[in-house]
Amino acid sequence: MQKIQNYIDGELNDSLSRNYIDNYNPSEGSVYSLIPDSDERDVQLAAKAAVRAFPVWSAMPVAERAALLMKIADLIERDHNLLAKAECIDNGKPLSLARSVDIPRASSNMRFFASAVLHFSSESHLTDDKAINYTTRKPVGVAGCISPWNLPLYLFTWKIAPALAAGNTVVAKPSEVTPMTAYLFSKICIEAGLPAGVLNIVHGLGAKVGQAIVAHPDIPLISFTGGTTTGKAIAAAAAPMFKKLSLELGGKNPNIIFDDCDLQNTIEVSLRSSFSNQGQICLCGSRILVQSGIYNQFLKQFVDRVAALKVGDPMESGSDIGAVVSQAHMNKVLAYIDLARKEGGEIQCGGQQVKVSGRCEKGYFIAPTVITGLDYTCKVNQEEIFGPVVTVMPFDSEEEVVNYANSTVYGLSATIFTDSLKRAHRVADELKCGIVWVNCWLLRDLRTPFGGVKQSGVGREGGEEALRFFTEAKNVCVSLK
Ligand code: NAD
Repeated sequence: MQKIQNYIDGELNDSLSRNYIDNYNPSEGSVYSLIPDSDERDVQLAAKAAVRAFPVWSAMPVAERAALLMKIADLIERDHNLLAKAECIDNGKPLSLARSVDIPRASSNMRFFASAVLHFSSESHLTDDKAINYTTRKPVGVAGCISPWNLPLYLFTWKIAPALAAGNTVVAKPSEVTPMTAYLFSKICIEAGLPAGVLNIVHGLGAKVGQAIVAHPDIPLISFTGGTTTGKAIAAAAAPMFKKLSLELGGKNPNIIFDDCDLQNTIEVSLRSSFSNQGQICLCGSRILVQSGIYNQFLKQFVDRVAALKVGDPMESGSDIGAVVSQAHMNKVLAYIDLARKEGGEIQCGGQQVKVSGRCEKGYFIAPTVITGLDYTCKVNQEEIFGPVVTVMPFDSEEEVVNYANSTVYGLSATIFTDSLKRAHRVADELKCGIVWVNCWLLRDLRTPFGGVKQSGVGREGGEEALRFFTEAKNVCVSLK
């Protein structure tokens, strides 16, 4: 059994409490590692180390900072197999997904921001006959970065890479459900020679470690990705201290399918967008809205394909669907499927837990589920389920579907399938969300802004938006008279 340790002030140590929490391998339903049950005393140590490290790190020539981040990216690539396997065991996701998406993206995050900061133009000049104005951008100080379990190392590095590149030091808290790759990452940082205190990783519960980071007076900025309920609690706790906040929260994303679409592409993309990572990606399409002319045709072909997806041991190459992240999460998803039945929904395929034989017989597997017959106002169509469950509904007009799509409290992403360029632009313009894909899904260019509207979040990450968030602008005005 592996014991995970905190990474504070350049060293790996137990928490001050010396207590541990069990961390489960969801495909086996067994304990995989022990996580330090840290509390505010550990956050205090981490914040002190980060405050101490800040003057030297923020003053380091930007090319040197970037070179260190590039070295970390090299080591992530060297350890690709080890990290992918750990992500698969800890999270339940197919190993093939961890290999092809999670770990490559973690190293690209480090490389992208190491390179982006070299081109980040922090100054602008405005001159008239009275004065010259210029603007500088300085790192904020110690950044608090709190990340979720669905894409553990991917989202962890998505936050800390721009924070560090911009010259901040960091106190980070990975999810207690999937701590392993962040722990392995701390060993990589030591090997890369990251100066002590620049990055500090405190493991433990959100209610102890996360809250202590948000409440800490020496941490003026919080970058959070996770659930909307947690985001609200963080926003409320941070408000009296006027902390700078970025909140990347939940979604209830529509896939809007017009009858002039390329049906085969639409089915392929919808399969991926609904069921990748067991539907546990904030950007997954969870409401499929299909124009009446092709509704029956789409439904038949889509359900056939979903029913053929293989639920199985995530370590095996043929498995399309692995385990959901925990027993509690499996029960939550199954309860939504029961609710769909009560709300009058018809289960077209799936709808139950799946027993996978062999070493995975105690794992938390759910059959990919397609539900029809529900009104767009019912709970199952309004609340985030975050599992391998999708509803399919018909619509007639463009106006009607825009209304359906915009009808939830969320506004993260949407996908439109159509052959009409004009319609794609028109509908994209009407949708209340932060990201729209047309005839594709999860094609991400790291230079573009990322984030949601309404209860899907506040602020944008990605590209220059992230570097702006992790820096403060200062205007200097010098009289010419
Ligand atoms: P969560 O909100 O339960 O936890 C996220 C992180 O916050 C964890 O590290 C947790 O320990 C910590 N935390 C919990 N309570 C806290 C508190 N009171 N104060 C500070 N920190 C606290 O979310 P989750 O279950 O880990 O992740 C799933 C959710 O994340 C889904 O809703 C999903 O849509 C969302 N998500 C959003 C994005 C995005 O970019 N918008 C990306 C991935 C996941």
